[in-house]
Amino acid sequence: MLITCPHCHRKNRLEAARLNAAPNCGACKQALFTGLPLALDNGNFARHADSDLPLVVDFWAAWCGPCRQFAPVFEQAASKLEPRTRLAKVDTEAAPELAARFAIRSIPTLLIVHQGKEIARLNGALPAAEFMRWLQTNLPAVPA
Ligand code: ZN
Repeated sequence: MLITCPHCHRKNRLEAARLNAAPNCGACKQALFTGLPLALDNGNFARHADSDLPLVVDFWAAWCGPCRQFAPVFEQAASKLEPRTRLAKVDTEAAPELAARFAIRSIPTLLIVHQGKEIARLNGALPAAEFMRWLQTNLPAVPA
């Protein structure tokens, strides 16, 4: 499968069986999984959106109170769901093109993108347990 490096954004070809073996990027040698959400912008979003790993995107802004309250929930989900899923944050102030492309009308909005296509959307934050349930219901299965 193709996994995009969170550091240099190059694609790495990796056997699914090696996901759990703490793989490093072939180009920059850094860890392909950090257990933390990744900040994406208009320049690097597409490289992660068309990866074989499902991408969960949190569209947020610094001025948005509910977004700030949700941030620790999202971070915790990243540590639980990697390496089967990538979690990323898009600051709608820094990347208005992405917010427009996905027709984001309120924040936070959560999207699941897989192989370039949006497959699920959630408007508004949820408590941790409900957010995990939403993810488990909507995330596509990644081969083990
Ligand atoms: Zn890299």
